[in-house]
Amino acid sequence: MRTVTILGATGSVGTSTLDLVEREPERFRVRALTAHRDVAKLAAAAIRTRAEMAVVADEACLPALREALAGTGIAAAGGEQAVCEAAGSGADWTMGAIVGCAGLKPVLAAIERGGTVVLANKEPLVSAGAIVMAAARDHGATVLPADSEHNAIFQCLDMMRPERVRRIILTASGGPFRDWSLDRMASVTPAQAVAHPNWSMGAKISIDSATMMNKGLELIEAAVLFPVEPARIEIVIHRQSVIHSMVDYVDGSMLAQLGPSDMRVPIAHCLAWPDRMATPMEPLDLVKLGRLDFEAPDPVRFRSLALARAAVEAGGARPAILNAANEVAVAAFLAGNIAFLEIAAIVDDTLQRYDPAAPDTLDAVLHVDARAREFAGERVKDCVA
Ligand code: NAD
Ligand code: MG
Repeated sequence: MRTVTILGATGSVGTSTLDLVEREPERFRVRALTAHRDVAKLAAAAIRTRAEMAVVADEACLPALREALAGTGIAAAGGEQAVCEAAGSGADWTMGAIVGCAGLKPVLAAIERGGTVVLANKEPLVSAGAIVMAAARDHGATVLPADSEHNAIFQCLDMMRPERVRRIILTASGGPFRDWSLDRMASVTPAQAVAHPNWSMGAKISIDSATMMNKGLELIEAAVLFPVEPARIEIVIHRQSVIHSMVDYVDGSMLAQLGPSDMRVPIAHCLAWPDRMATPMEPLDLVKLGRLDFEAPDPVRFRSLALARAAVEAGGARPAILNAANEVAVAAFLAGNIAFLEIAAIVDDTLQRYDPAAPDTLDAVLHVDARAREFAGERVKDCVA
């Protein structure tokens, strides 16, 4: 029996994780489920799985959660601190599936209790990668990657001999606008941008996929998770999203992980690791697929890729600034306040206007994150005005 906590249980990754956990009740018992504001979905999941506790990050939603859980014996709590306490409540296995840097403190709280911490939530690794990984070492926690590309690399990488790796190749679908001209991209709507051709995901990561900032964040995430420097991490467009990433060795062997584009595959790998568990997906039909295509990404139309590469190569505060500015710009685009191509422009401007010293503590990272959000927010206002 493994106790499981899911941070961000009502989202896309959270729902996929619950689906797997609920299929094997004799194997997994739910400790805590958290959400931002979606009380109805959170309470329903907590009742279904007989969770010990349910937590809403927005404290204003706590009365409604208490009411929804009345008489069930499930503890209810609210507020950011309560999310961190639930994260640190000592489950054997914790899924980090909150979106954005809002997941950083909860992820660290889980890591500080040891156990296995699975990260779908990539933004904390981008903003505070060194701090997150050092905390895992200090507290003996096992960090496993659920992001499909990083999970693929994890499955293909010989961790005993990282010096024998020539390249990591991150595959990218290219998103909904991979074949669009810059002119057409200038006027895309949020609805067009969230409609991903291969994956069904939350709104923020869907926009990140459309700008390809998602692949930029994943480049940084890979450099944090694996002992391979960014210069040896390449990005290739693979429109079928069947190969989730590859590792190329010095002897010419290239290892790839293939699977359906369903997050339940990498999540199941992390849930059962080092064992395996069954998932309900149809096996890949290679004959029906027929072909796998690869092409180089276009740096002009997908400016975010170059920004992310420059940020990871410069290091210091750059990845945290890139991430914070992107979160602000994506939210502004989703709210209808800025145009699609402004997202990368705002990230670029924020990186140019704000260049603090490298943050080496959590507080310093949070300060950089907050200041970068202010710079980016000002820039959003200029767009609106
Ligand atoms: P989502 O928007 O569907 O879900 C986000 C979850 O986080 C929800 O449960 C929400 O209630 C919670 N949340 C949002 N803001 C919060 C806050 N301020 N405090 C506490 N909780 C908050 O997002 P998603 O698509 O499931 O993605 C989650 C994370 O996983 C992201 O970092 C994303 O990049 C990553 N990821 C997602 C996918 C995917 O297929 N969806 C794949 C790989 C990686
Ligand atoms: Mg991914």
